[in-house]
Amino acid sequence: MAKVAKVKTLYVCTECGGQAPKWQGQCPACGTWNTLVESVAESPSAHRFQALAKTSPVQRLSEIEASDVPRFTTGIGEFDRVLGGGLVAGGVVPSHIFSEPVREAVEYLEYVGYALVVPFAAWAIGLLHYVRYH
Ligand SMILES: [Zn+2]
Repeated sequence: MAKVAKVKTLYVCTECGGQAPKWQGQCPACGTWNTLVESVAESPSAHRFQALAKTSPVQRLSEIEASDVPRFTTGIGEFDRVLGGGLVAGGVVPSHIFSEPVREAVEYLEYVGYALVVPFAAWAIGLLHYVRYH
């Protein structure tokens, strides 16, 4: 069953922009009469990641420094053009650094994967079957 979002209404003053949760004849902010109109309150879930977004101070355009980084061409002209001139060293880095035990566990899993490659490849190309039955 689909979850129906409850639409929350509030009343906004056309004179000052003040808000009231219920309709009333007089604006609680500026005191003018009959200026409150029904409006739909913006759902807080629409911006649920807003708190995680970093804010930066307002800067003048002249204060912003455009930096250029060295790029490595891939040899594929169109691909380089799409990348803005080529690959950038360190352009893709993990956003999270895992703890030492986790990194070690992943390393051992990697070794297990490497160890399984040769038998799997032999099975896949039929080498095991060939050795057994010929
Ligand atoms: Zn008002």
